[in-house]
Amino acid sequence: DETVELIAAGEVVENPASVVKELVENSLDAGAGSVDVEVENGGIDLVRVADDGRGMNADDAVCAFERHATSKISDADDVSKVDSLGFRGEALPSIGRVARVEMVTKDDGVGATRVVTGAGIDGERVEETGRGRGTTVEVTRLFESTPARRETLSSPGREFRRVSRLMTRYGLARPDVAFTVEHGDTEVLSTPGSGDPVDALYAVYGRDVASRATRFSHEDGRISVEGALVQPSVTRSATHHVYTAVNGRAVDDETVRGATVDGYGTLLPEDRYPVAVVSVDVPPERVDVNVHPAKKKVRFVDEDAVRRVVLSGVRDAVTNEDL
Ligand code: ADP
Ligand code: MG
Repeated sequence: DETVELIAAGEVVENPASVVKELVENSLDAGAGSVDVEVENGGIDLVRVADDGRGMNADDAVCAFERHATSKISDADDVSKVDSLGFRGEALPSIGRVARVEMVTKDDGVGATRVVTGAGIDGERVEETGRGRGTTVEVTRLFESTPARRETLSSPGREFRRVSRLMTRYGLARPDVAFTVEHGDTEVLSTPGSGDPVDALYAVYGRDVASRATRFSHEDGRISVEGALVQPSVTRSATHHVYTAVNGRAVDDETVRGATVDGYGTLLPEDRYPVAVVSVDVPPERVDVNVHPAKKKVRFVDEDAVRRVVLSGVRDAVTNEDL
């Protein structure tokens, strides 16, 4: 019933950052090479995500807002080995239950489709509009129909910091994708999408940090790791700056982060943290992405093996490069 659905929607949609996360993951799943995020008032008034991914035809655009309308699994067996970021077909309908959503999308066919839906809006309409291949989703009136939920939002500044931290993680986890983030009229992040993690580090941390970074990669069997490691003395901050990705997903993974820090070993003074970008790839069936409702965590089947590969990759790199 409606209440159960709203509770389910609440699990996915907590705040503007969770809206951004779901939309950006859809863009990445659609094979986007560039993803532009715009927010207003910390994302409370507006979240807009535009991509140059494969887009949708008119039928799929309307279907995307129906529950479990995912195009990413075709049978139940697929659930366990899915490697795309989203696959439950819940994000767009969930967002549509707590906000107004307007989507314009175009695939390789002729003509774009516009779909408007959401809380307080009567139904969907479809019309032709002009745009290149890709998808733009605009989310407004977040939690307007559910005042109690709107009360739980933090200040715009705080909500924006959540968005900004999230996008920093995507920018570093996916150096192959060009991301921009705008808050009001201010551009706060712009990554080149060159594929080089050091370029992404430059975009986020600036020249000083990037100039101290060294690229590394290592593999053992079907587990591989790559990324960039920075001399530990760069940061004194108490928060960690180890950005981890698993199969192209920006997930904050403790196994990978712990192994990275251990890989620095004694090169890491006790009160310092490294800056590092560490991407791990494992066969999709060897990782469970379903352990967290918002897919913020993963579980490795071969946790020890992943740990070993990351540890020795990082250790070799910091030893050889004499960081
Ligand atoms: P899921 O990502 O779990 O499949 P969503 O509700 O996030 O579910 O999206 C539903 C479907 O809409 C997706 O499976 C995909 O086919 C389509 N879709 C959503 N966003 C995009 C996008 N940016 N580009 C192309 N297709 C999209
Ligand atoms: Mg999704």
